[in-house]
Amino acid sequence: MKVKLGLLYGGKSAEHKVSLQTALAVNKAIDHEKYDIHPIYISEQGEWVRGNQLTGPVQEVQKLELKDGGNTISPVALNNEIFPAHGDKSDQTIDVIFPLLHGPNGEDGTVQGLLELMNIPYVGNGVLASAAGMDKVVMKNIFAQAGLDQVKYVSFIRSEWEADQTKTYEKIEEALGYPCFVKPANLGSSVGINKCTDRASLEKAFEEAFIFDRKVIVEEGIIAREVEIAVLGNDHPECSVAGEIVPKKEFYDYKAKYEDGDTAMIIPAEVTEEEYEVMKDMAIRAFKALDCAGLVRADFFLTKEGRVVINEVNTMPGFTPFSMFPLLWQHTGVSYPELIEKLVNLAIERHNEKQ
Ligand code: ADP
Ligand code: MG
Ligand code: MG
Repeated sequence: MKVKLGLLYGGKSAEHKVSLQTALAVNKAIDHEKYDIHPIYISEQGEWVRGNQLTGPVQEVQKLELKDGGNTISPVALNNEIFPAHGDKSDQTIDVIFPLLHGPNGEDGTVQGLLELMNIPYVGNGVLASAAGMDKVVMKNIFAQAGLDQVKYVSFIRSEWEADQTKTYEKIEEALGYPCFVKPANLGSSVGINKCTDRASLEKAFEEAFIFDRKVIVEEGIIAREVEIAVLGNDHPECSVAGEIVPKKEFYDYKAKYEDGDTAMIIPAEVTEEEYEVMKDMAIRAFKALDCAGLVRADFFLTKEGRVVINEVNTMPGFTPFSMFPLLWQHTGVSYPELIEKLVNLAIERHNEKQ
C-alpha cells in the first residue's frame, strides 16, 4: 500500500516562495512508487487549496501555486472535508502530512495544533516545541534552565517600552551595552533584526521590531563564527556533522539568507573534535529541553577562544536540497530522499506512540 503523503506548503509568511521551492524539491525527490503526493497549498492570503494528486515530479513551481482549479477549503473544515481520519477512508484520505512551512502560522505550533486535533500524523515538532522554539524569549528561558551557555539577553513587551522608552534603553545599556541585537521575539529569517551600536540605532531598532511583534528580545552582540548542527529523531535523536555559515555581510540577515545567495556554507565546519563534541551535546540537550520531535537545526556561536554558545534552534529549518539541514545530513551519509523518508517514518512512529 502506498503512503498518502500530504504536502502542506506556501503559507502567509515571508518564506512563502521558499516553501514553494521546498515542495517542488520534495515532490521531485520522493519515490512516487511508494508515496502518493497530495498537495495542499496555502496562498499568501491564507486560503487553503487542495490540488490533485501529483503522480510524478513537476518542473515548474507555478504548477504548485494552486491559484485556480483547486478546491479552496477552510482549514477548520479540513477534518470533515478532506481528512476523514476516523473511519470512512476514501481514496482522498491522507495518511501523514509534511508541513513545509516556516515562521508564524506554520512553524509556531498553530498548524501543529490543527493537525493534532485532526488526529493525523505529521512530520516534525509538536505544538509545545514548535511554539516554544518560535518565541526566542521562551526558548532562551528554557535553555537557561537546562544549563546551556547563551549570550546575555533582556526582553520587553510593547506596553512596557511605550510607558518609558528612556528607561527601557537605559536598562539595556546597563545590562548589555553595545553592540547589541534587537529582535522581534516571534519570527525567523532575520526579519526585523538589527544590530545596534549606539542609542540612536537602538531607538530605530525598537521602532522596527515592534512592527512585527508585541515582544522584543535584546541580546548582547557576540563576535563569533556561526556553526550549525542538524538533529534527527524522536526519543533517540542523532546529530549530523557541523556546518559553518559565513555571511558576506555584517550579519546573516534576510537578504543574505534569501536574496544575495552569496553566503558560504562550509561542511563539515572546521572545528576541533572537542568543540564538535560540545556542540553535539548541547544540540541534544536543547532538543530534549524543548521536547522536540523529528528534526531541529541547532545554531551556535563559536568564539575564537573556543566558547560554544547556543543561539537558537529552528523547529522547521530551511529544507530545500540546498539548505543547511539537508546538506548536513547529506555529508553525514543520509541523502535527501532518505531524509524525507526517515522524517515521514518518525512522524508515524510518534503518532503511534501517542495512541
Ligand atoms: P532568526 O531566527 O531570524 O534566524 P537569529 O537569532 O538567528 O534569528 O539572528 C539572525 C542572525 O543575526 C544570526 O544568524 C547572526 O548572524 C546575527 N545575530 C543574532 N544574534 C546575534 C548576537 N547576539 N550576536 C551576534 N550576532 C547575532
Ligand atoms: Mg530562527
Ligand atoms: Mg537564525
